[in-house]
Amino acid sequence: MNKKNVLYIKDLNKIYSKNSSKSVHAIKNLNLEVNEGEIFGLLGPNGAGKSTFINILAGTTIKTSGKVNVWGFDLDINPRQVRASIGIVPQEINVDPFFTPWSILELQAGMYGIKKKDRITETILKLVSLEKQSKSYTRAMSGGMKRRLLVAKALVHRPPIVILDEPTASVDVELRNKLWDNVKQLNKQGVTIILTTHYLNEAEQMCDRIGILNKGNLVALDTTKNLLKKIQTKIVKFLVDKKVDISNDSLKSINILSNEKNELVVSYEKSSLNIIEIIKFLNDHNIKILDISTDDGDLEDVFIRLTKN
Ligand code: ADP
Ligand code: MG
Repeated sequence: MNKKNVLYIKDLNKIYSKNSSKSVHAIKNLNLEVNEGEIFGLLGPNGAGKSTFINILAGTTIKTSGKVNVWGFDLDINPRQVRASIGIVPQEINVDPFFTPWSILELQAGMYGIKKKDRITETILKLVSLEKQSKSYTRAMSGGMKRRLLVAKALVHRPPIVILDEPTASVDVELRNKLWDNVKQLNKQGVTIILTTHYLNEAEQMCDRIGILNKGNLVALDTTKNLLKKIQTKIVKFLVDKKVDISNDSLKSINILSNEKNELVVSYEKSSLNIIEIIKFLNDHNIKILDISTDDGDLEDVFIRLTKN
Protein backbone atom coordinates (compact mmCIF):
# COMPACT_ATOMS: atom_id res chain seq x y z
CA MET A 1 0.00 0.00 0.00
CA ASN A 2 1.57 3.23 -1.12
CA LYS A 3 -0.04 6.07 0.74
CA LYS A 4 0.12 9.71 -0.15
CA ASN A 5 2.54 11.90 1.73
CA VAL A 6 0.32 14.44 3.41
CA LEU A 7 3.09 16.27 5.22
CA TYR A 8 6.67 16.62 4.08
CA ILE A 9 9.14 18.68 6.12
CA LYS A 10 12.74 19.14 5.01
CA ASP A 11 15.49 20.86 7.03
CA LEU A 12 13.03 23.09 8.83
CA ASN A 13 14.46 25.75 11.17
CA LYS A 14 12.87 28.38 13.32
CA ILE A 15 14.91 30.97 15.12
CA TYR A 16 13.03 33.54 17.19
CA SER A 17 15.11 36.68 17.46
CA LYS A 18 13.51 39.54 19.32
CA ASN A 19 16.80 41.36 19.58
CA SER A 20 20.15 40.30 18.21
CA SER A 21 21.60 39.29 21.61
CA LYS A 22 18.90 36.77 22.61
CA SER A 23 17.62 34.37 19.99
CA VAL A 24 15.90 31.01 20.46
CA HIS A 25 16.53 28.19 17.99
CA ALA A 26 13.10 26.58 18.50
CA ILE A 27 13.18 24.08 15.58
CA LYS A 28 16.49 22.59 14.48
CA ASN A 29 16.85 20.96 11.06
CA LEU A 30 13.58 19.07 11.35
CA ASN A 31 12.92 16.34 8.81
CA LEU A 32 9.57 14.62 8.99
CA GLU A 33 6.96 12.93 6.85
CA VAL A 34 3.41 12.05 7.80
CA ASN A 35 1.42 9.56 5.75
CA GLU A 36 -2.18 9.71 4.68
CA GLY A 37 -4.61 8.18 7.17
CA GLU A 38 -2.31 7.94 10.15
CA ILE A 39 -2.55 9.39 13.63
CA PHE A 40 0.80 10.99 14.26
CA GLY A 41 1.78 12.19 17.73
CA LEU A 42 4.37 14.86 18.38
CA LEU A 43 5.53 14.64 21.99
CA GLY A 44 8.01 16.65 23.96
CA PRO A 45 8.49 18.59 27.19
CA ASN A 46 7.46 22.21 27.56
CA GLY A 47 9.41 24.47 25.25
CA ALA A 48 10.40 21.62 22.91
CA GLY A 49 9.04 23.45 19.87
CA LYS A 50 5.73 21.63 19.32
CA SER A 51 3.53 24.71 19.12
CA THR A 52 6.12 26.51 17.01
CA PHE A 53 5.95 23.66 14.51
CA ILE A 54 2.16 23.67 14.45
CA ASN A 55 2.01 27.45 14.17
CA ILE A 56 4.32 27.31 11.15
CA LEU A 57 1.87 24.89 9.50
CA ALA A 58 -1.03 27.12 10.51
CA GLY A 59 0.67 30.12 8.94
CA THR A 60 0.78 32.14 12.15
CA THR A 61 4.55 31.75 12.63
CA ILE A 62 7.02 32.33 9.79
CA LYS A 63 9.72 29.68 9.40
CA THR A 64 13.35 30.77 9.23
CA SER A 65 14.41 28.19 6.62
CA GLY A 66 13.54 24.81 5.16
CA LYS A 67 10.76 23.25 3.13
CA VAL A 68 7.18 22.65 4.22
CA ASN A 69 4.86 20.76 1.94
CA VAL A 70 1.28 20.01 2.95
CA TRP A 71 -1.08 17.88 0.86
CA GLY A 72 1.21 18.44 -2.11
CA PHE A 73 1.32 22.24 -1.68
CA ASP A 74 4.51 24.13 -0.93
CA LEU A 75 4.03 26.62 1.90
CA ASP A 76 6.19 29.24 0.12
CA ILE A 77 4.32 28.94 -3.17
CA ASN A 78 0.73 28.03 -2.21
CA PRO A 79 0.13 29.22 1.37
CA ARG A 80 -3.64 29.48 0.83
CA GLN A 81 -3.96 25.92 -0.38
CA VAL A 82 -1.86 24.77 2.56
CA ARG A 83 -4.23 26.52 4.93
CA ALA A 84 -7.27 25.06 3.16
CA SER A 85 -5.85 21.56 3.57
CA ILE A 86 -5.56 21.66 7.33
CA GLY A 87 -7.88 22.25 10.24
CA ILE A 88 -6.10 23.50 13.33
CA VAL A 89 -7.30 23.06 16.89
CA PRO A 90 -5.21 25.56 18.84
CA GLN A 91 -3.74 25.08 22.30
CA GLU A 92 -5.69 27.95 23.84
CA ILE A 93 -9.46 27.81 24.19
CA ASN A 94 -11.05 30.99 22.95
CA VAL A 95 -14.72 30.88 22.08
CA ASP A 96 -17.05 33.85 22.26
CA PRO A 97 -19.35 33.26 25.26
CA PHE A 98 -22.31 35.01 23.62
CA PHE A 99 -22.41 32.83 20.53
CA THR A 100 -23.96 29.39 20.11
CA PRO A 101 -22.01 26.46 18.62
CA TRP A 102 -24.31 26.62 15.63
CA SER A 103 -23.61 30.29 14.91
CA ILE A 104 -19.86 29.90 15.50
CA LEU A 105 -19.69 27.14 12.90
CA GLU A 106 -21.85 29.06 10.44
CA LEU A 107 -19.62 32.12 10.83
CA GLN A 108 -16.51 30.04 10.29
CA ALA A 109 -18.04 28.49 7.17
CA GLY A 110 -18.81 31.98 5.92
CA MET A 111 -15.18 32.95 6.47
CA TYR A 112 -14.09 30.07 4.27
CA GLY A 113 -16.62 31.16 1.64
CA ILE A 114 -18.62 27.94 1.89
CA LYS A 115 -22.09 28.33 0.37
CA LYS A 116 -25.11 27.70 2.64
CA LYS A 117 -26.13 24.56 0.73
CA ASP A 118 -22.62 23.08 1.04
CA ARG A 119 -22.36 23.52 4.80
CA ILE A 120 -22.26 20.48 7.08
CA THR A 121 -22.84 22.24 10.39
CA GLU A 122 -25.30 19.67 11.71
CA THR A 123 -23.10 16.71 10.81
CA ILE A 124 -20.08 18.25 12.50
CA LEU A 125 -22.02 19.06 15.68
CA LYS A 126 -23.15 15.46 15.80
CA LEU A 127 -19.62 14.21 15.32
CA VAL A 128 -18.38 16.12 18.37
CA SER A 129 -21.56 15.27 20.32
CA LEU A 130 -22.71 18.86 20.68
CA GLU A 131 -25.99 18.57 18.79
CA LYS A 132 -27.99 19.07 21.99
CA GLN A 133 -26.05 22.25 22.82
CA SER A 134 -26.12 23.62 19.29
CA LYS A 135 -28.40 26.54 20.12
CA SER A 136 -27.21 27.31 23.67
CA TYR A 137 -24.70 29.99 24.52
CA THR A 138 -21.17 28.66 24.82
CA ARG A 139 -20.62 30.43 28.15
CA ALA A 140 -22.65 27.65 29.79
CA MET A 141 -20.39 24.97 28.30
CA SER A 142 -17.65 23.04 30.16
CA GLY A 143 -13.98 23.19 29.15
CA GLY A 144 -14.26 19.83 27.42
CA MET A 145 -17.28 20.92 25.41
CA LYS A 146 -15.51 24.10 24.33
CA ARG A 147 -12.55 22.03 23.24
CA ARG A 148 -14.85 19.84 21.15
CA LEU A 149 -16.37 22.96 19.67
CA LEU A 150 -12.88 24.02 18.59
CA VAL A 151 -12.48 20.63 16.94
CA ALA A 152 -15.80 21.22 15.16
CA LYS A 153 -14.62 24.65 14.05
CA ALA A 154 -11.51 23.13 12.50
CA LEU A 155 -13.71 20.82 10.42
CA VAL A 156 -16.08 23.20 8.62
CA HIS A 157 -14.00 23.34 5.43
CA ARG A 158 -13.58 19.54 5.47
CA PRO A 159 -9.78 19.51 5.61
CA PRO A 160 -8.04 16.20 4.87
CA ILE A 161 -5.62 16.89 7.74
CA VAL A 162 -6.57 17.89 11.28
CA ILE A 163 -3.91 19.15 13.68
CA LEU A 164 -4.57 19.33 17.40
CA ASP A 165 -2.19 21.14 19.77
CA GLU A 166 -2.49 19.70 23.30
CA PRO A 167 -6.19 18.90 22.79
CA THR A 168 -6.73 17.37 26.21
CA ALA A 169 -4.85 19.84 28.40
CA SER A 170 -7.14 20.92 31.25
CA VAL A 171 -9.95 18.62 30.12
CA ASP A 172 -11.30 16.14 32.66
CA VAL A 173 -10.91 12.42 32.10
CA GLU A 174 -14.42 11.62 30.93
CA LEU A 175 -14.49 14.38 28.35
CA ARG A 176 -10.96 13.52 27.33
CA ASN A 177 -12.13 10.05 26.38
CA LYS A 178 -15.01 11.54 24.44
CA LEU A 179 -12.66 13.84 22.58
CA TRP A 180 -10.40 10.93 21.67
CA ASP A 181 -13.43 9.02 20.44
CA ASN A 182 -14.23 11.95 18.18
CA VAL A 183 -10.68 12.05 16.88
CA LYS A 184 -10.64 8.31 16.24
CA GLN A 185 -13.92 8.54 14.39
CA LEU A 186 -12.59 11.34 12.21
CA ASN A 187 -9.54 9.25 11.46
CA LYS A 188 -11.77 6.30 10.48
CA GLN A 189 -13.40 8.58 7.95
CA GLY A 190 -9.99 9.05 6.34
CA VAL A 191 -8.78 12.24 7.99
CA THR A 192 -5.07 12.31 8.82
CA ILE A 193 -4.48 13.39 12.41
CA ILE A 194 -1.45 15.18 13.83
CA LEU A 195 -1.52 15.93 17.53
CA THR A 196 0.70 17.04 20.36
CA THR A 197 0.09 15.87 23.89
CA HIS A 198 1.60 15.69 27.33
CA TYR A 199 -0.35 12.57 28.22
CA LEU A 200 1.97 9.81 27.15
CA ASN A 201 -0.39 6.95 27.90
CA GLU A 202 -2.92 8.56 25.57
CA ALA A 203 -0.33 8.99 22.84
CA GLU A 204 0.50 5.32 23.36
CA GLN A 205 -3.12 4.31 22.80
CA MET A 206 -3.95 6.78 20.05
CA CYS A 207 -0.96 7.18 17.76
CA ASP A 208 0.30 4.94 14.98
CA ARG A 209 3.62 6.77 14.95
CA ILE A 210 5.31 9.10 17.36
CA GLY A 211 7.98 11.77 17.08
CA ILE A 212 9.67 13.11 20.19
CA LEU A 213 10.98 16.67 20.14
CA ASN A 214 13.48 17.94 22.67
CA LYS A 215 14.82 21.49 22.52
CA GLY A 216 13.94 21.69 18.85
CA ASN A 217 15.62 18.38 17.96
CA LEU A 218 13.69 15.34 16.79
CA VAL A 219 15.18 12.72 19.13
CA ALA A 220 12.90 9.83 18.16
CA LEU A 221 10.68 8.98 15.23
CA ASP A 222 9.15 5.55 14.99
CA THR A 223 5.97 3.52 15.20
CA THR A 224 4.51 3.45 18.69
CA LYS A 225 5.07 -0.30 18.71
CA ASN A 226 8.78 0.00 17.98
CA LEU A 227 9.26 2.74 20.55
CA LEU A 228 7.67 0.55 23.20
CA LYS A 229 10.06 -2.27 22.28
CA LYS A 230 12.95 -0.03 23.27
CA ILE A 231 11.77 0.15 26.84
CA GLN A 232 14.46 -1.07 29.17
CA THR A 233 12.92 -0.52 32.56
CA LYS A 234 10.93 -3.26 34.17
CA ILE A 235 8.97 -3.02 37.40
CA VAL A 236 8.38 -6.03 39.61
CA LYS A 237 6.32 -6.44 42.74
CA PHE A 238 7.02 -9.21 45.27
CA LEU A 239 4.63 -10.29 47.99
CA VAL A 240 6.88 -11.51 50.77
CA ASP A 241 6.57 -12.96 54.27
CA LYS A 242 8.70 -10.29 55.94
CA LYS A 243 10.46 -7.02 55.28
CA VAL A 244 13.51 -7.35 53.03
CA ASP A 245 16.88 -5.88 53.88
CA ILE A 246 17.70 -4.51 50.42
CA SER A 247 19.06 -1.24 49.05
CA ASN A 248 19.83 0.33 45.67
CA ASP A 249 23.39 -0.98 46.09
CA SER A 250 22.33 -4.60 46.61
CA LEU A 251 22.05 -5.45 42.93
CA LYS A 252 23.19 -3.80 39.72
CA SER A 253 20.69 -1.26 38.32
CA ILE A 254 18.07 -2.05 40.94
CA ASN A 255 15.92 0.79 42.25
CA ILE A 256 13.75 0.27 45.33
CA LEU A 257 10.37 1.88 44.68
CA SER A 258 8.79 0.78 47.96
CA ASN A 259 9.67 -1.67 50.71
CA GLU A 260 6.89 -2.53 53.14
CA LYS A 261 6.41 -5.35 55.58
CA ASN A 262 4.85 -7.71 53.02
CA GLU A 263 5.53 -6.03 49.75
CA LEU A 264 8.66 -5.06 47.86
CA VAL A 265 8.46 -3.09 44.61
CA VAL A 266 11.59 -2.53 42.55
CA SER A 267 12.51 -1.42 39.06
CA TYR A 268 15.56 -2.56 37.12
CA GLU A 269 17.14 -2.34 33.69
CA LYS A 270 16.58 -5.41 31.55
CA SER A 271 20.03 -5.03 30.02
CA SER A 272 21.90 -5.26 33.33
CA LEU A 273 19.80 -7.49 35.56
CA ASN A 274 17.66 -10.58 35.29
CA ILE A 275 14.69 -11.17 37.55
CA ILE A 276 16.23 -14.53 38.52
CA GLU A 277 19.02 -12.63 40.27
CA ILE A 278 16.50 -10.72 42.37
CA ILE A 279 14.74 -13.95 43.31
CA LYS A 280 18.09 -15.47 44.23
CA PHE A 281 18.87 -12.46 46.41
CA LEU A 282 15.57 -12.93 48.25
CA ASN A 283 16.17 -16.65 48.66
CA ASP A 284 19.66 -16.03 49.99
CA HIS A 285 18.16 -13.69 52.59
CA ASN A 286 15.59 -16.27 53.67
CA ILE A 287 12.67 -14.34 52.30
CA LYS A 288 9.69 -16.39 51.20
CA ILE A 289 8.14 -15.10 47.97
CA LEU A 290 4.34 -15.47 48.07
CA ASP A 291 3.60 -13.84 44.75
CA ILE A 292 5.30 -11.97 41.90
CA SER A 293 3.81 -9.56 39.41
CA THR A 294 5.69 -7.64 36.75
CA ASP A 295 4.90 -4.54 34.84
CA ASP A 296 6.58 -3.46 31.64
CA GLY A 297 7.43 0.21 31.49
CA ASP A 298 5.48 2.46 29.21
CA LEU A 299 6.13 5.28 26.81
CA GLU A 300 7.01 7.47 29.76
CA ASP A 301 10.26 5.54 30.22
CA VAL A 302 11.29 6.08 26.60
CA PHE A 303 10.30 9.71 26.85
CA ILE A 304 12.27 10.40 30.03
CA ARG A 305 15.37 8.65 28.70
CA LEU A 306 15.30 10.63 25.44
CA THR A 307 14.52 14.03 26.93
CA LYS A 308 16.63 14.08 30.08
CA ASN A 309 19.59 16.36 29.64
P1 ADP B 1 6.11 23.71 23.13
O1 ADP B 1 4.85 23.97 22.40
O2 ADP B 1 6.76 22.40 22.78
O3 ADP B 1 5.96 23.87 24.61
P2 ADP B 1 7.02 26.20 21.94
O4 ADP B 1 7.02 25.96 20.47
O5 ADP B 1 5.89 26.95 22.49
O6 ADP B 1 7.22 24.81 22.69
O7 ADP B 1 8.37 26.95 22.32
C1 ADP B 1 9.65 26.53 21.83
C2 ADP B 1 10.71 27.56 22.24
O8 ADP B 1 10.52 28.76 21.51
C3 ADP B 1 10.68 27.94 23.70
O9 ADP B 1 12.00 28.15 24.13
C4 ADP B 1 9.89 29.24 23.70
O10 ADP B 1 10.27 30.05 24.79
C5 ADP B 1 10.31 29.85 22.39
N1 ADP B 1 9.25 30.72 21.82
C6 ADP B 1 7.98 30.31 21.50
N2 ADP B 1 7.29 31.34 20.96
C7 ADP B 1 8.14 32.40 20.94
C8 ADP B 1 8.01 33.76 20.50
N3 ADP B 1 6.88 34.21 19.96
N4 ADP B 1 9.10 34.57 20.64
C9 ADP B 1 10.23 34.11 21.18
N5 ADP B 1 10.42 32.86 21.59
C10 ADP B 1 9.40 31.98 21.49
MG1 MG C 1 2.82 24.19 23.09
